[in-house]
Amino acid sequence: MIVGIGTPIGAGTQVKIIVMGGGVIGVTTAYWLAKTGHEVQVLERHGSVGEETSFQNGALLAPGHSQSWAAPGALWTLFKSIFQKDPALRLRFSSDPQFWRWAMKFLANCTAEDYRANTLRVLRCMMAGLAELRALSAETGVGYSGNDRGILYLFRTIRSFEERHGDWTLLREHGLKLEEADVERCVSIEPVLGPVKHLIGGGFFSPEESAGDALVFTCGLAEHCRAIGVSFAFNTTVQAIECHGGRVRAVHTDKGSFSGDAYLMALGPYSPILLRPIGLNLPIWPVKGYTASIPINGHAGAPKVGIIEEDNLVAFANLGDTLRVGGKAEFTGYDTSYSEADFRGVMAVSKELFPDAGDYSRPRYWACLRPVSAGGPPILGETPVANLFLNVGHGAAGWTEGCATSRAVADIMNGRQPDLDMEGLRLSDL
Ligand SMILES: Cc1cc2nc3c(=O)[nH]c(=O)nc-3n(C[C@H](O)[C@H](O)[C@H](O)COP(=O)(O)OP(=O)(O)OC[C@H]3O[C@@H](n4cnc5c(N)ncnc54)[C@H](O)[C@@H]3O)c2cc1C
Repeated sequence: MIVGIGTPIGAGTQVKIIVMGGGVIGVTTAYWLAKTGHEVQVLERHGSVGEETSFQNGALLAPGHSQSWAAPGALWTLFKSIFQKDPALRLRFSSDPQFWRWAMKFLANCTAEDYRANTLRVLRCMMAGLAELRALSAETGVGYSGNDRGILYLFRTIRSFEERHGDWTLLREHGLKLEEADVERCVSIEPVLGPVKHLIGGGFFSPEESAGDALVFTCGLAEHCRAIGVSFAFNTTVQAIECHGGRVRAVHTDKGSFSGDAYLMALGPYSPILLRPIGLNLPIWPVKGYTASIPINGHAGAPKVGIIEEDNLVAFANLGDTLRVGGKAEFTGYDTSYSEADFRGVMAVSKELFPDAGDYSRPRYWACLRPVSAGGPPILGETPVANLFLNVGHGAAGWTEGCATSRAVADIMNGRQPDLDMEGLRLSDL
Protein backbone atom coordinates (compact mmCIF):
# COMPACT_ATOMS: atom_id res chain seq x y z
CA MET A 1 0.00 0.00 0.00
CA ILE A 2 1.27 3.51 -0.86
CA VAL A 3 1.67 5.82 2.12
CA GLY A 4 0.04 9.16 1.41
CA ILE A 5 -2.95 11.29 2.26
CA GLY A 6 -5.72 8.88 3.23
CA THR A 7 -4.84 5.78 1.27
CA PRO A 8 -8.08 3.92 0.55
CA ILE A 9 -8.32 0.26 1.36
CA GLY A 10 -8.58 -0.79 -2.27
CA ALA A 11 -11.68 -1.92 -4.15
CA GLY A 12 -12.82 -5.39 -3.19
CA THR A 13 -10.08 -5.91 -0.54
CA GLN A 14 -11.41 -7.04 2.81
CA VAL A 15 -9.48 -5.84 5.82
CA LYS A 16 -9.74 -5.33 9.57
CA ILE A 17 -10.97 -1.89 10.62
CA ILE A 18 -10.94 -0.42 14.11
CA VAL A 19 -13.72 2.09 14.76
CA MET A 20 -13.05 4.37 17.74
CA GLY A 21 -16.38 5.42 19.33
CA GLY A 22 -19.77 3.78 19.76
CA GLY A 23 -22.04 6.81 19.30
CA VAL A 24 -24.47 7.17 16.43
CA ILE A 25 -21.60 8.15 14.11
CA GLY A 26 -19.25 5.26 14.99
CA VAL A 27 -22.01 2.64 14.86
CA THR A 28 -23.41 3.89 11.55
CA THR A 29 -19.94 3.90 9.95
CA ALA A 30 -19.29 0.41 11.34
CA TYR A 31 -22.50 -0.69 9.60
CA TRP A 32 -21.48 0.66 6.20
CA LEU A 33 -17.98 -0.80 6.53
CA ALA A 34 -19.25 -4.24 7.58
CA LYS A 35 -21.75 -4.18 4.75
CA THR A 36 -18.88 -3.92 2.30
CA GLY A 37 -17.32 -7.05 3.75
CA HIS A 38 -14.75 -5.74 6.22
CA GLU A 39 -14.01 -7.15 9.66
CA VAL A 40 -14.99 -4.30 11.98
CA GLN A 41 -14.32 -3.81 15.68
CA VAL A 42 -15.82 -0.89 17.62
CA LEU A 43 -14.01 0.41 20.74
CA GLU A 44 -16.29 2.14 23.25
CA ARG A 45 -15.55 3.25 26.81
CA HIS A 46 -19.08 2.65 28.13
CA GLY A 47 -20.85 -0.68 28.61
CA SER A 48 -23.13 -0.05 25.64
CA VAL A 49 -23.45 2.14 22.55
CA GLY A 50 -24.88 5.66 22.46
CA GLU A 51 -24.19 6.55 26.09
CA GLU A 52 -22.91 10.11 25.59
CA THR A 53 -24.04 12.80 23.12
CA SER A 54 -26.21 10.34 21.20
CA PHE A 55 -27.99 9.31 24.42
CA GLN A 56 -30.64 12.01 24.71
CA ASN A 57 -30.29 14.81 22.17
CA GLY A 58 -32.89 17.21 20.75
CA ALA A 59 -34.31 14.32 18.65
CA LEU A 60 -35.11 16.50 15.63
CA LEU A 61 -34.17 15.50 12.09
CA ALA A 62 -34.07 19.08 11.01
CA PRO A 63 -32.32 20.27 7.83
CA GLY A 64 -34.21 23.52 8.40
CA HIS A 65 -31.82 24.15 11.25
CA SER A 66 -28.62 23.94 9.24
CA GLN A 67 -27.59 27.57 9.76
CA SER A 68 -23.94 27.75 10.80
CA TRP A 69 -23.35 29.11 14.30
CA ALA A 70 -20.40 31.03 12.85
CA ALA A 71 -22.62 33.84 11.57
CA PRO A 72 -21.95 37.56 11.04
CA GLY A 73 -23.89 38.44 14.23
CA ALA A 74 -22.35 35.73 16.43
CA LEU A 75 -20.05 38.02 18.44
CA TRP A 76 -22.93 40.40 19.26
CA THR A 77 -25.14 37.46 20.30
CA LEU A 78 -22.38 36.27 22.64
CA PHE A 79 -21.91 39.74 24.08
CA LYS A 80 -25.66 40.16 24.76
CA SER A 81 -25.82 36.77 26.50
CA ILE A 82 -23.45 38.05 29.22
CA PHE A 83 -26.26 40.31 30.51
CA GLN A 84 -29.14 37.82 30.20
CA LYS A 85 -30.65 35.68 32.93
CA ASP A 86 -30.75 32.02 31.77
CA PRO A 87 -29.31 32.81 28.33
CA ALA A 88 -29.59 30.27 25.50
CA LEU A 89 -25.87 30.81 24.95
CA ARG A 90 -23.31 31.02 27.75
CA LEU A 91 -19.60 31.57 27.28
CA ARG A 92 -17.16 30.77 30.05
CA PHE A 93 -13.68 31.84 28.99
CA SER A 94 -11.18 29.01 29.05
CA SER A 95 -7.44 29.24 29.54
CA ASP A 96 -7.02 26.20 27.29
CA PRO A 97 -5.04 27.29 24.19
CA GLN A 98 -7.11 24.80 22.14
CA PHE A 99 -10.20 26.84 22.95
CA TRP A 100 -8.56 30.04 21.72
CA ARG A 101 -7.33 28.35 18.56
CA TRP A 102 -10.88 27.14 17.90
CA ALA A 103 -12.37 30.55 18.78
CA MET A 104 -10.09 32.37 16.32
CA LYS A 105 -11.08 29.97 13.56
CA PHE A 106 -14.75 30.31 14.52
CA LEU A 107 -14.53 34.11 14.30
CA ALA A 108 -12.74 33.88 10.95
CA ASN A 109 -15.76 31.91 9.67
CA CYS A 110 -18.22 34.63 10.72
CA THR A 111 -18.13 36.51 7.40
CA ALA A 112 -21.33 36.60 5.35
CA GLU A 113 -19.65 34.60 2.61
CA ASP A 114 -18.37 31.80 4.88
CA TYR A 115 -21.65 31.69 6.80
CA ARG A 116 -23.52 31.08 3.55
CA ALA A 117 -21.07 28.43 2.30
CA ASN A 118 -20.95 26.58 5.63
CA THR A 119 -24.74 26.67 6.04
CA LEU A 120 -25.21 25.15 2.60
CA ARG A 121 -22.65 22.42 3.37
CA VAL A 122 -24.53 21.51 6.56
CA LEU A 123 -27.85 21.65 4.69
CA ARG A 124 -26.45 19.26 2.07
CA CYS A 125 -25.28 16.80 4.77
CA MET A 126 -28.55 17.03 6.71
CA MET A 127 -30.83 16.55 3.69
CA ALA A 128 -28.74 13.59 2.51
CA GLY A 129 -28.57 12.25 6.07
CA LEU A 130 -32.33 12.22 6.55
CA ALA A 131 -32.84 10.45 3.21
CA GLU A 132 -30.15 7.86 4.09
CA LEU A 133 -31.60 7.32 7.56
CA ARG A 134 -35.03 6.55 6.12
CA ALA A 135 -33.55 4.23 3.48
CA LEU A 136 -31.31 2.44 6.00
CA SER A 137 -34.20 1.99 8.41
CA ALA A 138 -36.41 0.57 5.63
CA GLU A 139 -33.64 -1.78 4.49
CA THR A 140 -32.58 -3.10 7.90
CA GLY A 141 -35.83 -2.78 9.85
CA VAL A 142 -33.97 -0.74 12.51
CA GLY A 143 -36.42 1.82 13.92
CA TYR A 144 -36.01 5.13 15.72
CA SER A 145 -39.47 5.98 17.14
CA GLY A 146 -39.88 8.21 14.09
CA ASN A 147 -42.43 10.98 13.81
CA ASP A 148 -42.80 12.28 10.24
CA ARG A 149 -45.23 15.13 10.91
CA GLY A 150 -42.74 17.87 9.97
CA ILE A 151 -41.07 20.68 11.91
CA LEU A 152 -42.35 24.18 12.62
CA TYR A 153 -39.68 26.88 13.13
CA LEU A 154 -41.48 29.33 15.37
CA PHE A 155 -40.77 33.00 16.11
CA ARG A 156 -42.15 34.93 19.05
CA THR A 157 -42.65 38.25 17.26
CA ILE A 158 -43.18 39.48 13.72
CA ARG A 159 -39.93 41.38 14.15
CA SER A 160 -37.83 38.31 15.02
CA PHE A 161 -39.52 36.45 12.16
CA GLU A 162 -38.61 39.22 9.71
CA GLU A 163 -35.06 39.56 11.06
CA ARG A 164 -34.30 35.87 10.45
CA HIS A 165 -36.37 35.51 7.27
CA GLY A 166 -33.29 35.52 5.01
CA ASP A 167 -31.73 32.53 6.81
CA TRP A 168 -34.67 30.31 5.89
CA THR A 169 -35.07 31.78 2.40
CA LEU A 170 -31.50 30.63 1.70
CA LEU A 171 -32.45 27.05 2.63
CA ARG A 172 -35.60 27.18 0.51
CA GLU A 173 -33.59 28.41 -2.47
CA HIS A 174 -31.34 25.37 -2.06
CA GLY A 175 -33.91 22.63 -2.12
CA LEU A 176 -35.56 22.51 1.31
CA LYS A 177 -39.35 22.42 1.18
CA LEU A 178 -40.44 25.26 3.48
CA GLU A 179 -43.74 27.03 3.89
CA GLU A 180 -44.02 30.52 5.37
CA ALA A 181 -46.73 30.41 8.04
CA ASP A 182 -48.60 33.29 9.68
CA VAL A 183 -49.99 32.85 13.18
CA GLU A 184 -53.28 31.28 12.04
CA ARG A 185 -51.40 28.82 9.82
CA CYS A 186 -49.05 27.95 12.71
CA VAL A 187 -52.10 27.10 14.81
CA SER A 188 -53.65 25.01 12.04
CA ILE A 189 -50.36 23.07 11.73
CA GLU A 190 -50.07 22.60 15.50
CA PRO A 191 -53.47 23.11 17.19
CA VAL A 192 -52.09 23.00 20.75
CA LEU A 193 -50.60 26.44 20.01
CA GLY A 194 -54.17 27.87 19.83
CA PRO A 195 -54.40 29.09 23.43
CA VAL A 196 -50.95 30.76 23.22
CA LYS A 197 -51.18 32.24 19.75
CA HIS A 198 -50.75 35.74 21.19
CA LEU A 199 -47.16 34.63 22.01
CA ILE A 200 -46.32 33.85 18.36
CA GLY A 201 -45.25 36.11 15.49
CA GLY A 202 -45.05 33.54 12.69
CA GLY A 203 -42.95 30.68 11.44
CA PHE A 204 -41.69 28.39 8.74
CA PHE A 205 -43.10 24.91 8.34
CA SER A 206 -40.98 22.14 6.88
CA PRO A 207 -43.46 19.34 6.14
CA GLU A 208 -40.93 16.67 5.15
CA GLU A 209 -38.80 16.78 8.30
CA SER A 210 -39.02 14.40 11.24
CA ALA A 211 -38.25 13.61 14.83
CA GLY A 212 -36.75 10.42 16.16
CA ASP A 213 -34.72 8.89 18.97
CA ALA A 214 -30.99 8.62 18.19
CA LEU A 215 -30.43 6.17 21.06
CA VAL A 216 -33.14 3.77 19.86
CA PHE A 217 -31.57 3.87 16.40
CA THR A 218 -27.97 3.47 17.63
CA CYS A 219 -28.83 0.50 19.86
CA GLY A 220 -30.95 -1.14 17.13
CA LEU A 221 -28.26 -0.66 14.50
CA ALA A 222 -25.59 -2.02 16.86
CA GLU A 223 -27.68 -5.21 17.21
CA HIS A 224 -27.93 -5.43 13.44
CA CYS A 225 -24.17 -4.83 13.15
CA ARG A 226 -23.49 -7.70 15.54
CA ALA A 227 -25.63 -9.95 13.36
CA ILE A 228 -23.49 -9.09 10.33
CA GLY A 229 -20.23 -9.71 12.18
CA VAL A 230 -19.19 -6.42 13.82
CA SER A 231 -17.58 -6.93 17.23
CA PHE A 232 -17.80 -4.43 20.08
CA ALA A 233 -15.19 -3.98 22.79
CA PHE A 234 -17.08 -2.20 25.57
CA ASN A 235 -15.67 -0.64 28.74
CA THR A 236 -12.56 -0.01 26.66
CA THR A 237 -11.07 3.48 26.78
CA VAL A 238 -8.81 4.63 23.96
CA GLN A 239 -5.74 6.22 25.55
CA ALA A 240 -3.35 6.76 22.66
CA ILE A 241 -2.90 6.22 18.95
CA GLU A 242 0.50 4.88 17.90
CA CYS A 243 1.84 5.95 14.50
CA HIS A 244 4.97 4.92 12.59
CA GLY A 245 5.97 5.77 9.03
CA GLY A 246 2.81 7.79 8.41
CA ARG A 247 0.47 4.95 9.44
CA VAL A 248 -1.38 3.99 12.58
CA ARG A 249 0.13 0.81 13.99
CA ALA A 250 -2.08 0.35 17.04
CA VAL A 251 -4.64 1.94 19.31
CA HIS A 252 -3.72 1.62 22.98
CA THR A 253 -6.54 1.28 25.49
CA ASP A 254 -6.95 0.45 29.17
CA LYS A 255 -7.77 -3.11 28.00
CA GLY A 256 -4.70 -3.58 25.84
CA SER A 257 -3.78 -2.71 22.26
CA PHE A 258 -5.92 -3.13 19.14
CA SER A 259 -4.53 -3.26 15.62
CA GLY A 260 -6.14 -3.23 12.22
CA ASP A 261 -5.43 -2.29 8.63
CA ALA A 262 -7.43 0.94 8.83
CA TYR A 263 -8.82 3.10 11.65
CA LEU A 264 -11.82 5.38 11.95
CA MET A 265 -11.98 8.27 14.42
CA ALA A 266 -15.55 8.78 15.74
CA LEU A 267 -15.01 9.81 19.35
CA GLY A 268 -17.34 12.82 19.01
CA PRO A 269 -16.14 15.79 21.09
CA TYR A 270 -13.15 13.79 22.38
CA SER A 271 -11.68 13.17 18.91
CA PRO A 272 -9.30 16.20 18.95
CA ILE A 273 -7.80 15.11 22.29
CA LEU A 274 -6.68 11.75 20.91
CA LEU A 275 -5.52 13.18 17.57
CA ARG A 276 -3.40 16.05 18.90
CA PRO A 277 -0.48 13.84 20.09
CA ILE A 278 -0.11 12.44 16.54
CA GLY A 279 0.06 15.93 15.08
CA LEU A 280 -3.52 16.40 13.87
CA ASN A 281 -5.12 19.58 15.17
CA LEU A 282 -8.87 19.51 14.57
CA PRO A 283 -10.83 22.75 15.07
CA ILE A 284 -13.55 21.11 17.17
CA TRP A 285 -14.70 22.33 20.58
CA PRO A 286 -17.28 20.82 22.98
CA VAL A 287 -20.43 22.92 23.44
CA LYS A 288 -22.71 21.70 26.19
CA GLY A 289 -26.46 21.37 25.77
CA TYR A 290 -29.32 20.28 28.03
CA THR A 291 -32.31 18.05 27.30
CA ALA A 292 -35.28 16.84 29.31
CA SER A 293 -37.62 13.96 28.48
CA ILE A 294 -41.09 14.74 29.79
CA PRO A 295 -43.48 11.76 30.09
CA ILE A 296 -46.62 12.67 28.08
CA ASN A 297 -48.59 10.30 30.24
CA GLY A 298 -52.08 10.90 28.79
CA HIS A 299 -51.71 14.69 28.63
CA ALA A 300 -53.27 16.24 25.52
CA GLY A 301 -51.15 19.38 25.21
CA ALA A 302 -47.87 18.09 23.73
CA PRO A 303 -47.12 19.35 20.22
CA LYS A 304 -47.32 16.58 17.63
CA VAL A 305 -45.13 18.30 15.05
CA GLY A 306 -41.51 19.05 15.88
CA ILE A 307 -40.97 22.63 17.00
CA ILE A 308 -37.96 24.90 17.36
CA GLU A 309 -38.76 28.12 19.19
CA GLU A 310 -36.18 30.31 17.52
CA ASP A 311 -36.10 33.31 19.88
CA ASN A 312 -34.92 31.20 22.85
CA LEU A 313 -33.61 28.27 20.79
CA VAL A 314 -35.67 25.59 22.50
CA ALA A 315 -36.49 22.41 20.56
CA PHE A 316 -39.48 20.11 21.04
CA ALA A 317 -39.79 16.57 19.66
CA ASN A 318 -42.75 14.28 20.24
CA LEU A 319 -41.42 10.72 20.55
CA GLY A 320 -44.76 9.08 21.31
CA ASP A 321 -44.65 8.52 25.04
CA THR A 322 -42.33 11.44 25.81
CA LEU A 323 -41.78 15.03 24.76
CA ARG A 324 -38.07 15.76 24.29
CA VAL A 325 -37.26 19.36 25.16
CA GLY A 326 -33.75 20.66 24.55
CA GLY A 327 -31.67 23.76 24.26
CA LYS A 328 -28.84 25.98 25.48
CA ALA A 329 -25.27 26.19 24.28
CA GLU A 330 -22.64 26.54 26.99
CA PHE A 331 -18.89 26.78 26.57
CA THR A 332 -17.82 24.96 29.73
CA GLY A 333 -15.09 22.70 28.36
CA TYR A 334 -15.61 18.99 28.93
CA ASP A 335 -17.81 19.41 32.00
CA THR A 336 -21.05 17.42 31.54
CA SER A 337 -22.50 17.93 35.02
CA TYR A 338 -26.00 19.39 35.42
CA SER A 339 -28.46 20.46 38.08
CA GLU A 340 -32.15 21.32 37.99
CA ALA A 341 -31.29 25.02 37.82
CA ASP A 342 -29.62 24.51 34.42
CA PHE A 343 -33.00 23.57 32.95
CA ARG A 344 -34.89 26.61 34.28
CA GLY A 345 -34.89 28.60 31.03
CA VAL A 346 -35.71 25.65 28.77
CA MET A 347 -38.51 24.42 31.05
CA ALA A 348 -39.98 27.91 31.40
CA VAL A 349 -40.36 28.17 27.61
CA SER A 350 -41.85 24.67 27.49
CA LYS A 351 -44.40 25.34 30.23
CA GLU A 352 -45.33 28.70 28.74
CA LEU A 353 -46.03 27.32 25.25
CA PHE A 354 -47.23 23.84 26.19
CA PRO A 355 -48.53 23.93 29.78
CA ASP A 356 -50.31 20.57 29.43
CA ALA A 357 -47.61 18.75 27.46
CA GLY A 358 -46.94 16.09 30.08
CA ASP A 359 -45.96 15.34 33.63
CA TYR A 360 -43.49 18.17 34.31
CA SER A 361 -42.80 16.77 37.78
CA ARG A 362 -40.99 13.72 36.32
CA PRO A 363 -38.46 14.94 33.76
CA ARG A 364 -35.42 12.87 32.84
CA TYR A 365 -32.57 15.37 32.60
CA TRP A 366 -29.38 15.00 30.56
CA ALA A 367 -26.47 17.18 29.53
CA CYS A 368 -24.03 16.38 26.75
CA LEU A 369 -21.44 17.92 24.46
CA ARG A 370 -21.89 18.89 20.83
CA PRO A 371 -18.67 18.35 18.85
CA VAL A 372 -18.74 21.76 17.14
CA SER A 373 -16.37 22.47 14.25
CA ALA A 374 -15.21 26.04 13.78
CA GLY A 375 -17.18 26.54 10.57
CA GLY A 376 -20.12 24.24 11.27
CA PRO A 377 -19.80 21.35 8.75
CA PRO A 378 -18.50 17.95 9.83
CA ILE A 379 -14.89 16.98 9.03
CA LEU A 380 -14.79 13.79 6.99
CA GLY A 381 -12.52 11.33 5.28
CA GLU A 382 -8.77 11.22 4.76
CA THR A 383 -6.04 12.48 7.08
CA PRO A 384 -2.29 12.87 6.48
CA VAL A 385 -1.98 9.52 8.30
CA ALA A 386 -2.51 7.03 5.48
CA ASN A 387 -4.80 4.51 7.21
CA LEU A 388 -6.66 6.90 9.56
CA PHE A 389 -10.01 8.42 8.58
CA LEU A 390 -12.37 10.92 10.22
CA ASN A 391 -16.11 11.16 10.81
CA VAL A 392 -16.18 14.00 13.35
CA GLY A 393 -17.35 17.54 14.14
CA HIS A 394 -21.10 17.16 13.52
CA GLY A 395 -22.01 19.75 16.15
CA ALA A 396 -25.75 20.14 16.66
CA ALA A 397 -26.62 18.13 13.55
CA GLY A 398 -25.00 14.70 13.89
CA TRP A 399 -28.19 12.73 14.34
CA THR A 400 -29.57 14.16 11.10
CA GLU A 401 -26.31 14.06 9.14
CA GLY A 402 -24.89 10.78 10.46
CA CYS A 403 -26.19 8.22 7.98
CA ALA A 404 -24.95 10.26 5.01
CA THR A 405 -21.55 11.24 6.43
CA SER A 406 -20.95 7.65 7.56
CA ARG A 407 -21.78 6.24 4.16
CA ALA A 408 -19.53 8.84 2.51
CA VAL A 409 -16.59 8.06 4.83
CA ALA A 410 -17.02 4.30 4.28
CA ASP A 411 -17.01 4.96 0.51
CA ILE A 412 -13.82 7.03 0.81
CA MET A 413 -12.17 4.27 2.86
CA ASN A 414 -13.19 1.81 0.16
CA GLY A 415 -11.71 4.01 -2.57
CA ARG A 416 -15.12 4.89 -4.02
CA GLN A 417 -16.48 8.30 -4.97
CA PRO A 418 -19.16 9.14 -2.34
CA ASP A 419 -22.62 10.22 -3.47
CA LEU A 420 -22.38 13.07 -0.94
CA ASP A 421 -20.71 16.13 -2.49
CA MET A 422 -17.55 16.43 -0.37
CA GLU A 423 -16.78 20.09 -1.19
CA GLY A 424 -15.60 21.81 2.01
CA LEU A 425 -15.96 18.70 4.19
CA ARG A 426 -12.42 17.31 4.16
CA LEU A 427 -9.65 18.13 6.65
CA SER A 428 -7.57 19.32 3.69
CA ASP A 429 -10.31 21.90 2.89
CA LEU A 430 -9.89 23.69 6.25
C1 LIG B 1 -28.27 19.13 23.60
C2 LIG B 1 -28.04 18.54 22.24
C3 LIG B 1 -29.10 18.47 21.36
C4 LIG B 1 -28.90 17.94 20.08
N1 LIG B 1 -29.97 17.84 19.24
C5 LIG B 1 -29.81 17.34 17.99
C6 LIG B 1 -30.93 17.23 17.13
O1 LIG B 1 -32.06 17.55 17.48
N2 LIG B 1 -30.71 16.77 15.87
C7 LIG B 1 -29.45 16.42 15.43
O2 LIG B 1 -29.30 16.04 14.27
N3 LIG B 1 -28.39 16.45 16.27
C8 LIG B 1 -28.54 16.92 17.53
N4 LIG B 1 -27.48 17.00 18.38
C9 LIG B 1 -26.16 16.58 17.89
C10 LIG B 1 -25.97 15.08 17.92
O3 LIG B 1 -26.53 14.54 19.09
C11 LIG B 1 -24.47 14.80 17.83
O4 LIG B 1 -23.93 15.45 16.70
C12 LIG B 1 -24.21 13.30 17.72
O5 LIG B 1 -24.85 12.60 18.75
C13 LIG B 1 -22.71 13.04 17.78
O6 LIG B 1 -22.54 11.67 17.71
P1 LIG B 1 -21.09 11.05 17.90
O7 LIG B 1 -21.24 9.60 17.65
O8 LIG B 1 -20.12 11.83 17.10
O9 LIG B 1 -20.74 11.39 19.41
P2 LIG B 1 -21.11 10.54 20.72
O10 LIG B 1 -22.51 10.10 20.70
O11 LIG B 1 -20.67 11.34 21.88
O12 LIG B 1 -20.22 9.26 20.52
C14 LIG B 1 -18.84 9.24 20.80
C15 LIG B 1 -18.57 7.98 21.56
O13 LIG B 1 -17.18 7.89 21.82
C16 LIG B 1 -17.02 7.37 23.12
N5 LIG B 1 -15.71 7.81 23.61
C17 LIG B 1 -15.26 9.06 23.83
N6 LIG B 1 -13.98 9.04 24.22
C18 LIG B 1 -13.60 7.74 24.24
C19 LIG B 1 -12.37 7.07 24.50
N7 LIG B 1 -11.26 7.72 24.87
N8 LIG B 1 -12.34 5.72 24.38
C20 LIG B 1 -13.43 5.02 24.01
N9 LIG B 1 -14.62 5.60 23.74
C21 LIG B 1 -14.70 6.94 23.85
C22 LIG B 1 -18.15 7.96 23.93
O14 LIG B 1 -18.45 7.18 25.05
C23 LIG B 1 -19.28 7.96 22.91
O15 LIG B 1 -20.09 6.81 22.99
C24 LIG B 1 -27.62 17.51 19.67
C25 LIG B 1 -26.56 17.57 20.56
C26 LIG B 1 -26.76 18.08 21.85
C27 LIG B 1 -25.60 18.13 22.79
